[in-house]
Amino acid sequence: MHTEVCVLGAGPSGALCARRLTELGHRVLLVERHPFPRPHVGEALTPAVRPLLDSLGLLQAVRDAGSLAPTWSCVRWTDERVRRVRLPAGTRGFTVCRARFDQLLLDAARSVGVAVLQPARAHRPHRHAEGWEVPLTTPEGPRILSARFLVDATGRARVLGGRVTRTGPRTIALYAAWRVGTRRVPPTCLEAGPHGWLWGTLLPGGEYRAMAFTDPEQLRRPRVHRSFRADFLRGLLAGSELLRELAADRPASAVAVCDATGYLDPDPVAEDRISLGEAAFAIDPLSSSGVDKALQSAMAGAVTVHTLLGGGGDRRAALAYYRDSQRASVEQHTRWAGGYYEEHLPYRDNAFWRRRARPLPVPAPEPAPRPDLAALMHRRVRLAPAGRLTSTPCVVGDQVAFRPALVHPALPRPVAYLGGHALAPLVASLHGGHTLAETLRAWSRTMSAEQALTVARWLYGQGLLVPQP
Ligand SMILES: Cc1cc2nc3c(=O)[nH]c(=O)nc-3n(C[C@H](O)[C@H](O)[C@H](O)COP(=O)(O)OP(=O)(O)OC[C@H]3O[C@@H](n4cnc5c(N)ncnc54)[C@H](O)[C@@H]3O)c2cc1C
Repeated sequence: MHTEVCVLGAGPSGALCARRLTELGHRVLLVERHPFPRPHVGEALTPAVRPLLDSLGLLQAVRDAGSLAPTWSCVRWTDERVRRVRLPAGTRGFTVCRARFDQLLLDAARSVGVAVLQPARAHRPHRHAEGWEVPLTTPEGPRILSARFLVDATGRARVLGGRVTRTGPRTIALYAAWRVGTRRVPPTCLEAGPHGWLWGTLLPGGEYRAMAFTDPEQLRRPRVHRSFRADFLRGLLAGSELLRELAADRPASAVAVCDATGYLDPDPVAEDRISLGEAAFAIDPLSSSGVDKALQSAMAGAVTVHTLLGGGGDRRAALAYYRDSQRASVEQHTRWAGGYYEEHLPYRDNAFWRRRARPLPVPAPEPAPRPDLAALMHRRVRLAPAGRLTSTPCVVGDQVAFRPALVHPALPRPVAYLGGHALAPLVASLHGGHTLAETLRAWSRTMSAEQALTVARWLYGQGLLVPQP
């Protein structure tokens, strides 16, 4: 068996990347260990997933397959008070059955021509002169697959192996599902406890998912070995304010335990391989954005692989783009999670909370109010002294290439395009020799006057457009 690209793992990241690569003209074989539908944790999706599913033409299918969008949530986090939080329409996430959700993404990959081998378990791949050999175990017996390019999307199994850097303390999750019937539980909730936190949500099938996140040593304490998992979880629920009613019933499923530690692969991409989603990084489940990040990494991974396989663009840019964008995304999330743990007060001196809480950086002071941009119209203007252009890897169409981008301490990341317009030629004219009115007129040769004004407003708002002293 030979293919151009072999994608191992048909979770959200593998299925989406396989689909994009096929659409970009590559021959892709997707290998999945389990027959689908199969259960999986990660059922609560952030609102950011919606526009992505919409752009893929899958949003309606996900709705039709059954999803819930809770309108309120109960949170007991910063102190002992329970807050009932209304979730306005635009900020509302949704809950899916992952078995059905993953099946839909896999069907969508098949529908564009992705070849799927399932069930087939991949073992550690080996490099050879022309690419990779992947030993497989299939129901028909062992097989060898050869591929020019390898995509590891096997989640925490990380079939390609390699070192990862931990991004947070070791964490375990215990979870199960309950039939709630008339029990009073919030549609979704988050509750802090002395040695961890609990999360619960109603699932589309009518069951209720509850999870506990804690330090691994909690399970190693006397009497809390394997066979005591159920009692341990029940004890945590019984001591909670929001989910204690669940403790009265046996769960409908066995209590499962899994690793939920955050990590980052510092080397997720090379000329002939890439790791996506949880094969490349795992974030703290506190934000419920693992699936969102996995899908984003699949999209970024697909343009990276397309560039590496000679679809145009620049290979060096592709490698830097994927590595840097994944790292930046994980670092940003790690900062956010540390700040959220920091907000918790009642048990802040306990080891669980001390290990995770990190104060957020002090925000920069609000800039002094500036006069309206119109006041600069007849003054000569320039780029702020700390602003400069630097060559940065960017996605241009379906490829990655270096483009000049604007960097400045006020910008969280380099900016190459604004509203679809390359910033470099616009910024290059900000040398202090022209008034703002002249600059806008010059810019209006390549865009509408309104767009030119929007760019000027954005630069001015960021403190990047200043009058020539
Ligand atoms: C306890 C917990 C709770 C979470 N809750 C949420 C949540 O509420 N919301 C959220 O967005 N995220 C959540 N996450 C994270 C989320 O589950 C993951 O981010 C997401 O599933 C990653 O997708 P993926 O495609 O990278 O990997 P996966 O979804 O894990 O898919 C990997 C696929 O690879 C297959 N595979 C594995 N090994 C092999 C092999 N050797 N050969 C072939 N196939 C193989 C597997 O069968 C699987 O289908 C949670 C994570 C944990 C640990």
